[in-house]
Amino acid sequence: MIIAPKKYKEGTIIETDICIIGGGPAAISLALSFLNQHSKIIILAGGSWKEKSRHRELNKGIIDPSSSHEPLEENRKRVFGGGTAVWGGRCVPFDPIDFEKRSWVPHSGWPITYDQVEQYFERSLQFCEAGENNFDARVVFPGKNPEIIPGMDNEDIVSYKLERWSAPTRFAHRYKHILKSNHNIDIYLDAHVININVENQADKVDSVTVVIDSSEIKVKAGKFVLAAGGIENPRLLLSSKSAFHPNGIGNQHDNVGRYYMCHLTGTFGAVDPFNRKEILFPFELDQQAIYCRRRWWLTPKFQKQAKIANGIMYLNGPINVKDHKEATESAVILAKSFSNILKGRSFKAVFKNLKQAIKDLNEHLVFTLKNSHQVIPFFLNIGIKRITNRRLPIRLPSIKSKWLFVCFQSEHVPNPESRICLSEEKDRLGLPLPLVKVGFTELDIQTVISSYKTFFERFQNLNKGNISYKEEDLRQNVMEEINNFSSRAHHLGTTRMSDSPINGVVDSNCKVHGMSNLYVAGSSVFPTGGHANPTLTLIALTLRLADHLKKSNLPPIKPSSYNVDANPKKVFHMKALRLLSNITLIFSARY
Ligand SMILES: Cc1cc2nc3c(=O)[nH]c(=O)nc-3n(C[C@H](O)[C@H](O)[C@H](O)COP(=O)(O)OP(=O)(O)OC[C@H]3O[C@@H](n4cnc5c(N)ncnc54)[C@H](O)[C@@H]3O)c2cc1C
Repeated sequence: MIIAPKKYKEGTIIETDICIIGGGPAAISLALSFLNQHSKIIILAGGSWKEKSRHRELNKGIIDPSSSHEPLEENRKRVFGGGTAVWGGRCVPFDPIDFEKRSWVPHSGWPITYDQVEQYFERSLQFCEAGENNFDARVVFPGKNPEIIPGMDNEDIVSYKLERWSAPTRFAHRYKHILKSNHNIDIYLDAHVININVENQADKVDSVTVVIDSSEIKVKAGKFVLAAGGIENPRLLLSSKSAFHPNGIGNQHDNVGRYYMCHLTGTFGAVDPFNRKEILFPFELDQQAIYCRRRWWLTPKFQKQAKIANGIMYLNGPINVKDHKEATESAVILAKSFSNILKGRSFKAVFKNLKQAIKDLNEHLVFTLKNSHQVIPFFLNIGIKRITNRRLPIRLPSIKSKWLFVCFQSEHVPNPESRICLSEEKDRLGLPLPLVKVGFTELDIQTVISSYKTFFERFQNLNKGNISYKEEDLRQNVMEEINNFSSRAHHLGTTRMSDSPINGVVDSNCKVHGMSNLYVAGSSVFPTGGHANPTLTLIALTLRLADHLKKSNLPPIKPSSYNVDANPKKVFHMKALRLLSNITLIFSARY
């Protein structure tokens, strides 16, 4: 049942077996794992179908120093569905090396192995509708060149590893019918948890206090799962102080909120390859019509030898007309600028993201109008994609662009001084605002520098084309990226998993150390962040948590009947979509 907000009587108490706090992909995947079972599940989703300003203001926080991180309400969504209401859908698994203790990466090493998580990727991909659990281009696209640029791969960088792209699946809308029709799951919309109450016993949560339509009620449960996102999870633990936990729950060793990680991203330098025909960087469709893309990955051997963290690099398009000379590119830049403004995103955000483009929006407009014969069919194709529910993830540059820009996404290594704490200011529900102090170390900077040096040296030695890149500017460029940092909505590590409460917040089952019935789901439990976008892995970990909860002393289980693929209508749609998408790709390649 999905329960719209309404007024409750003072002192109302609702009881359940498992109470999930949050409404994003972590909360929804957990609930989907309990379909048709005997245990009663309640989701307290702090948001509804649309984000209004009264929701958005609850996501505000303080940044210290002020330009060191984007405003907190910008990259988070206080809606049912959480970040998946707006996410790009890029699904990338963590690598085995991410789980290892690396002597050169402080605080690295997970208390669980890659294999313990890998076995959940298949179902996680199913929830994200991103195809099969195979990320090896040599297997997924047999017979094709496995490399982005033939001859470039070596022992240091390889490009056969794929990323897969979700529809992108909007979790709340995609799964609302299934959740609604399940007798054992109740979803309370606009239900904002303001305190986790530990009243009778130090290791046991008794209830949570929730504000729904200005009524304050309590939800009691046998087990609680905190799944409110990488910033709200530590915020709620820290602010839920009691006689038993004067510094907040799980914070006996001052670890809650520390080790805040994101990813470092940016674009420095460009290449103008001589042989454009041999390059394999556009999206490719696999057998199930899922968009896949290749990127260069720094091999574990190279990471070990260079003593750097994990990272990837890929090619992307220029933003200036003079560099891309493409009408469709200009039209997309214009459309995105206006849609951001119409969606009410702050002007600061729009200007920051489109710093360069803003200068020549006028130029983009003139160029778009002059070339409308290319632009109209392009947008018609996008329309078809939207109708068929799976869209081209992002617009990549045409193969004819003068310069192809070299982008990176790298690991932000764990650092206890990078942290979320509480400020003195409070939101309208009385919760202290989160205070963000994001921090980077020399290892973060060296990872980017080594990646670029290796990439450009190899490109140049093989005489693959012209380059536009100044090694001497690299450090300065990375520093600028850090000083005007954007988390890109990857909020990791703030309730990290560890064997011992001394160096973490949750144990290997995601249970808060020292607590018997409180668990955490989401990327806040990652001890290290790898280079991968977090959602696929956080869902995998949530599914693992679901198995753990089912095994612990809950009532017996009825078998689940849910299978996203067993829908013949969907199989037909997938086939039709594949045909349409192939036509579109052939069409796009002409421009
Ligand atoms: C623009 C954008 C693009 C992205 N693209 C990608 C991508 O391509 N690939 C990828 O892997 N990831 C991407 N992400 C990140 C992805 O969305 C997050 O990793 C993911 O949504 C995190 O899931 P979550 O359930 O842990 O938290 P969230 O999605 O943040 O959900 C948290 C939920 O908790 C609710 N909540 C918060 N506080 C409370 C409270 N006190 N009480 C009750 N409920 C509360 C919120 O309303 C929300 O529903 C993107 C994010 C954004 C914003």
